[in-house]
Amino acid sequence: MSAPVPVFDGHNDFLLRLLRTPEARETTWLSDTGEGHLDLPRMRAGGFAGGFFAVYIPSPVTHDDPDLDAIMRNPPFSLPLPEEIPLEDALPVAMKMVGHLMWMEREGNLKICHSVADIRNAMAANKIAAILHFEGAEAIGSDLDLLHVWHAMGLRSLGPVWSRPTAFGNGVPFAYPSSPDTGNGLTAAGKRLVAECNQLKIMIDLSHLNEKGFDDVAALSDAPLVATHSNAHALCPSPRNLTDRQLSMIRESDGLVGLNYGLGFLRQDGRGEPFAGFDPMLRHLDHLIETLGESRVGLGSDFDGVAIPPDLGDVAGLPRLIEAMRAHGYDAPLIERLAHGNWLALLERTWGG
Ligand SMILES: [Zn+2]
Repeated sequence: MSAPVPVFDGHNDFLLRLLRTPEARETTWLSDTGEGHLDLPRMRAGGFAGGFFAVYIPSPVTHDDPDLDAIMRNPPFSLPLPEEIPLEDALPVAMKMVGHLMWMEREGNLKICHSVADIRNAMAANKIAAILHFEGAEAIGSDLDLLHVWHAMGLRSLGPVWSRPTAFGNGVPFAYPSSPDTGNGLTAAGKRLVAECNQLKIMIDLSHLNEKGFDDVAALSDAPLVATHSNAHALCPSPRNLTDRQLSMIRESDGLVGLNYGLGFLRQDGRGEPFAGFDPMLRHLDHLIETLGESRVGLGSDFDGVAIPPDLGDVAGLPRLIEAMRAHGYDAPLIERLAHGNWLALLERTWGG
């Protein structure tokens, strides 16, 4: 059997698993435990060559929290967002998660990449090419000094918000159906954050940002517009997905959208329930390619962050997704671009060569 097509991926939450069970991190990373979606052996089996590793600060869990999965299986729904997390609470958590990623690098099978050359070298050396990404800027104070500290630690990509509010802006709530136009745009600090990220060549991620925030970034940023893990609102009206107007702005900027594998972001009926096969994913890819062009679409799995189609299963199932693309009529050069080529080209446009 030939080697799987290498996949460079827009978003995963593997570091959250290490945060939750730090005592098990060696097993979690190095052995195929069958838990979650990611570990090194299954990445190798699936052709996962690298991607964005998210630092996401979990909200404190309380007793009366609703059963999110159950609610998301039964739209319509509209859930309130968790409270903003103060810098002093977010900081030690972010430090721990970056610490886990740095441990993975020391262990020897992963490289934290700062440039596209780093990514190509890591892929050639058969190491997982990781980009340190913040999903929500809670661990950066509004004076932005810490942005420079994190940049020195390797941060090269950042979303101003996960869905809950931050000092920088507002995200979309968990709701279905809903427009992404759900509130105010970036704060003054958020606008300064965009300028500073441009200067440091930190990629700005629009996934989770509401529509006014999206428009603010589009107006201010000098970089291509990127949504690392979002789908087409026209096919699944979740506020986490992008309207055709937003997609056309991303196209204008020569940006990129990564396909999210989450059940609740794929199905037209918004039900977060399993489906057989890959058809909803292929329909979103078709729409993204049609509106963005073949060079501005990639993959953004959300592995270890959401429930995904059972026929994909986990990262080891990527060759089945690739096979479904082939059977759907995508030719080999297009598949290579969707799987990794477009992401690398986008990062070159964002970071420089
Ligand atoms: Zn996310």
